[in-house]
Amino acid sequence: MLKGWLNRWRSRGKPLTRLKPVIIPRDRHPVSRKNISPAAVRTLYRLHDAGHQAFLIGGGVRDLLLGLDPKDFDIATSATPEQVKHLFGGQCQIIGRRFRLAHVRWGREVIEVATFRAHHSDGDEQTARTNADGLILRDNVWGDIEEDAARRDFTINAIYYNIADFSLWDFANGRKDLEQRVLRLIGDPETRYREDPVRMLRAIRFAAKLDFTLAPDTAAPIPELAELLEDMSSHRLYDECHKLFGGGHAAPLLPLLEEYGLFEPLFPEAMLYPRHQLWQLTAENTDARIAICKGINPAFFFAALLWGPMQARVQQLLDEGVPPVPAWQQAGQMVLTSQQRRTAIPRHAAQVIRDIWEMQPRLEVPRPRQVEAMAQNERFRAGYDFLVLREQAGEDTRGMGAWWTRWQDADPGLQIEMQRALENRPKEGATSSKPRRRRKPRADQNA
Ligand code: ATP
Ligand code: MG
Repeated sequence: MLKGWLNRWRSRGKPLTRLKPVIIPRDRHPVSRKNISPAAVRTLYRLHDAGHQAFLIGGGVRDLLLGLDPKDFDIATSATPEQVKHLFGGQCQIIGRRFRLAHVRWGREVIEVATFRAHHSDGDEQTARTNADGLILRDNVWGDIEEDAARRDFTINAIYYNIADFSLWDFANGRKDLEQRVLRLIGDPETRYREDPVRMLRAIRFAAKLDFTLAPDTAAPIPELAELLEDMSSHRLYDECHKLFGGGHAAPLLPLLEEYGLFEPLFPEAMLYPRHQLWQLTAENTDARIAICKGINPAFFFAALLWGPMQARVQQLLDEGVPPVPAWQQAGQMVLTSQQRRTAIPRHAAQVIRDIWEMQPRLEVPRPRQVEAMAQNERFRAGYDFLVLREQAGEDTRGMGAWWTRWQDADPGLQIEMQRALENRPKEGATSSKPRRRRKPRADQNA
């Protein structure tokens, strides 16, 4: 304990360059090769047999210690990416510029192999760059394991499993933080967030996933530094959003994002037209699908998060006299273009988002003769699910979410009757931008 405190005290305001491990032998910890993916074990052995140091690191060790199923297995090694490539040949691909590492492919499984890294002052322009604000632009100075540990983000992510003798090397008292369910940055938190602002998102992602609390000094700088995210690469932020919303814990995560001021730099326009009830329902729905191994489409989440600005833009264009169909198309284009300044949105995802949005007025006021064709549309399911969630969130959808649910369950005779009855309904009022009073959500819909 004293050691952890001393490390933190020494690191205040200045970069921490190396850490010493506490070594826990195999008979004093539960991590077993049985629970590590065979592909990761083979990768570790091949590196080790070639004379390199090879350790399992990060989520693989952390989650096993917590009794969870790791999402993936990452390896840290003394071998350089070129040496890894040499060992694994065609199975291996070197990726990344800012952070070069090797991907070793075993069938469908990819093992990430990262070379030990050292602190930057030791590097030159080619291998390491930090801008005037302390942001790391390139992080490719190789080092030893003690230096590598000091570059890791959280104490619980800096526990290494050594394939040479199956011991754990705990560099920052991570095991104690695991026991106490605390997420704590290694080193001086403000410096570490300035080096890489995405660590703020990682902090709340792990807090939500593991149900951990943030240590006070890890939490304190976040609200003030949150705006640093505005200057991050939009592609990296899109990838991170993927992990935030597609990790199975989006429901506890959304309130944390807002609490720490991290939502606004990611989705500035969404904050102007918040749809909290819809967001939370979408998150619960997405988590429920992941829990039963059903696929999710990240585009659906973006459609929900940006629904407020979308409605506002549509209304504005309609008020300016633009006819409804082009108004919906233009509004979608405008909202997505604006959002892409913060998070990239791949072309296919953007198309899905727009389809979901543009389907809303058509689902709310369907032409009776087109009902069947609409239900055949490849995007019907997503559009319908979105409509139902909006309805559950208390929006005025003219009850059409429930109508489509009944229509899909009805026999052909009843379907025709229902379609005929639509003729007599007033046509106005589709997709009002004002949320109605909240209704109790139903939890059985699919996103
Ligand atoms: P999971 O894969 O379950 O999301 P993880 O902890 O394995 O969690 P990865 O993104 O796979 O996270 O990264 C592997 C390890 O690399 C982390 O545990 C951490 O030690 C280190 N790491 C990743 N990203 C950063 C970062 N931005 N700053 C410092 N260290 C990082
Ligand atoms: Mg991982």
